[in-house]
Amino acid sequence: MNVLVLNCGSSSLKFQLIATGLEQIADNADRRLAHGQIERIGGAAIITFTAENRQTERSAAPVRDVRAALETVLRWIASDSSNIEGINGLADIQAIGHRVVHGGEFFTESVLITDEVLRGIEDCIELAPLHNPANVKGINAAREIFGRALPQTAVFDTAFHQTLPEKSYLYAIPYQFYRRHKIRRYGFHGTSHRYIAYRYRTINKIARENVNIITLHLGNGCSIAAIKNGNSMDTSMGLTPLEGLVMGTRSGDIDPALIEFICAKEGLTVNEAESLLNKQSGLLGISGLTNDMRELAAEAAESGDRRAILAIEIFCYRAAKYIGSYLAAMNGADAIIFAGGIGENSALIRRKICDYLSWCGAQLDEAKNEAQTAGHENIISADSSKLKIYVIPTNEELLIARDTVRLIETGSPQQKNLPTK
Ligand code: ADP
Repeated sequence: MNVLVLNCGSSSLKFQLIATGLEQIADNADRRLAHGQIERIGGAAIITFTAENRQTERSAAPVRDVRAALETVLRWIASDSSNIEGINGLADIQAIGHRVVHGGEFFTESVLITDEVLRGIEDCIELAPLHNPANVKGINAAREIFGRALPQTAVFDTAFHQTLPEKSYLYAIPYQFYRRHKIRRYGFHGTSHRYIAYRYRTINKIARENVNIITLHLGNGCSIAAIKNGNSMDTSMGLTPLEGLVMGTRSGDIDPALIEFICAKEGLTVNEAESLLNKQSGLLGISGLTNDMRELAAEAAESGDRRAILAIEIFCYRAAKYIGSYLAAMNGADAIIFAGGIGENSALIRRKICDYLSWCGAQLDEAKNEAQTAGHENIISADSSKLKIYVIPTNEELLIARDTVRLIETGSPQQKNLPTK
């Protein structure tokens, strides 16, 4: 089955075309036939398409909206010039899997999209006003182009964290705000944390209920999850993806009182202050240079820039503090796992975080850490390390494609409490 995986953002569309099926899943023999993205939708868009084993094609063209972006992708997929193996036209796409950011408390797992499901996703817009509208537009555009007969699924960033117990998802604010407005920790990057946990148990040939790990997704956005007995029991992102670790441009945890303070001192509105915490803080805010960890590390090494060094120090310190608190919350874990652009590629950041962890028996093997190369799953702790340390590249798109196959082959689970309108 060829599954088109779509990740529609407010100004970008990313896709992968993945050939998979129950047999391929069992044999780990899925194939990524093509991938690409359209950025700066709404203006002069930058288009990047790559078919398997072929050179990347880059172009620029005006792209009006999400629907026009999807049409551009589909034209390329169906064209002779893309030359994608096994694809002669759009009829060779058998399903679409959508990444959806917020599933609220409605969605605890991936689902086949029906009118009722779409209403549920729309109902979550107030929880994710920046993300869910784009996801809805992507679903509607795909329905218009392909018709209702083509199966489409929604895979939620929040779903994996729906197992959080009350003690980790409730904020210590008046309880009625949870009742009235559903204010709580939802957590994000759930598909990534779930994929990493799945690979960990596959590599180690253990049952799901024996998975006791801490997973770190360190990319532009960063989050960490405590996974106990196979279930997410705590995670660092909250009501929105702003909470938790230091990120590229997001502050992560702050004293909430500083918002009013900044507004008063700088003459900002609450919206402007929130935008500052989302877009001008984190690594960028501290360093004053860049949100890109690779550039920051180069700057720190080459020129010894004080604030670049400080941004890296704060990033690692915060991550280590979270690991320590999750080890306490879980009463210990078997492994910590690094993923995401930074987690997979930066030996420096992994070492600096692990430097804080000798107290709990985590011992990095320096040589293995340095030798780690992108795209490979490896254990990087010393043989004697009590707490194992891994690098496991994440693959959210693959999990979305696999969920799509499973839902089509085995049916959609019943979701609780979907809105009826
Ligand atoms: P996203 O969250 O957008 O998917 P990625 O997972 O691709 O982002 O992560 C992007 C981050 O990974 C950037 O900060 C980038 O600098 C960092 N990164 C990628 N390669 C390296 C590297 N070799 N060393 C340090 N950081 C790296």
